[in-house]
Amino acid sequence: MGRVYNFSAGPAVLPEEVLKEAQEELMDYRGCGMSVMEMSHRSKMFDQIIKEAEADIRDVMGIPDNYKVLFLQGGATLVFSMIPMNLSMHKNKVADYIVTGNWGKKAFQEAGRFITANKIASSEDKTFTYIPDLSDLPVTDNADYVYICQNETVYGTTIRTLPNTKGKPLVADVSSMFLSEPMDVSKYGVIYGGVQKNVGPAGLAIAIVREDLIPQEDLADVPVYLQFKTHADANSLYNTPNCWDIYMCGKVFKWLKNMGGLEEMQRRNIEKAKILYDYIDQSDMFTGTVRKEDRSVMNVPFVTTAGDKDLEAKFVAESQAAGMENLKGHRSVGGMRASIYNAMPKAGVEKLVDFMAEFEKKYK
Ligand SMILES: *Cc1c(COP(=O)(O)O)cnc(C)c1O
Repeated sequence: MGRVYNFSAGPAVLPEEVLKEAQEELMDYRGCGMSVMEMSHRSKMFDQIIKEAEADIRDVMGIPDNYKVLFLQGGATLVFSMIPMNLSMHKNKVADYIVTGNWGKKAFQEAGRFITANKIASSEDKTFTYIPDLSDLPVTDNADYVYICQNETVYGTTIRTLPNTKGKPLVADVSSMFLSEPMDVSKYGVIYGGVQKNVGPAGLAIAIVREDLIPQEDLADVPVYLQFKTHADANSLYNTPNCWDIYMCGKVFKWLKNMGGLEEMQRRNIEKAKILYDYIDQSDMFTGTVRKEDRSVMNVPFVTTAGDKDLEAKFVAESQAAGMENLKGHRSVGGMRASIYNAMPKAGVEKLVDFMAEFEKKYK
């Protein structure tokens, strides 16, 4: 069987060029007679891999020198805990959360285990189908940070205008939009994401943390492993890291550079998303679930206008038979969802739209 078009929200499609390179290097990584999965994380070979990966992501994103790049295990979910533990537990024990979907909600609930987490904005009143106005929120005077999930993977919304945090550091979960477009890192205190959405294989999170937000004292009530300082001081080699994943992400960073960087990625991503949204908007059978101005370029949820569950099930089954995988919507939204990350070629989106048009003709 050949390659399918994989519209999974994560783990998700990776660039074919990267997979081929990894395949070529699998038995013998550059003359050392073993694969990256077998080598010591303290070896010269791996040291070069992790240093190059860090240098390349710094280059691709334009990360200023006063930010640390941390390669962490435990996924984005463990970072939900690390944020309050490192940024607030030893300070005012208060932080503000903007909840625009289930990932922001999970992070908010987790923070509440350790500090006072205030929900200062939410779009749950309309099942997270829009982004509220974030220009003048009731930011708590002594909040240690303001938190957003910038692209909500399940609901398919993106925060396009960053909140006015009234001087508080902004913390952003960007898992499902990581490296999909240029970002001004200096506007954030922390940017982080699990890599398995838009960057690499599952098993790694990357956190970009402004240095002054990394506590320099030992935090007695925080496990050593969950302190940012532990990983910052050890250059992400405090213990055995996910070597294979760092290697794969490093290849993706180089792939992005070869493609023309994040500006070019953004151009391509907008072009792909437009093809799909334009089709949905003129269709009689399908409807997008998100307010137009808040739509994500990465995750595109849609339903049948008639809310016909049988027809939606048919769509998923027939699209799969036609070589398009994982178009079933998340259980909390239903319908369909197409995740069209960096590595999804334009041809994949065109094939999906052609399929939708045929499907519509057949069942109208
Ligand atoms: C998938 C996802 C997560 C959870 O990631 P894990 O690495 O599985 O913990 C968190 N936030 C967002 C926005 C996601 O899309």
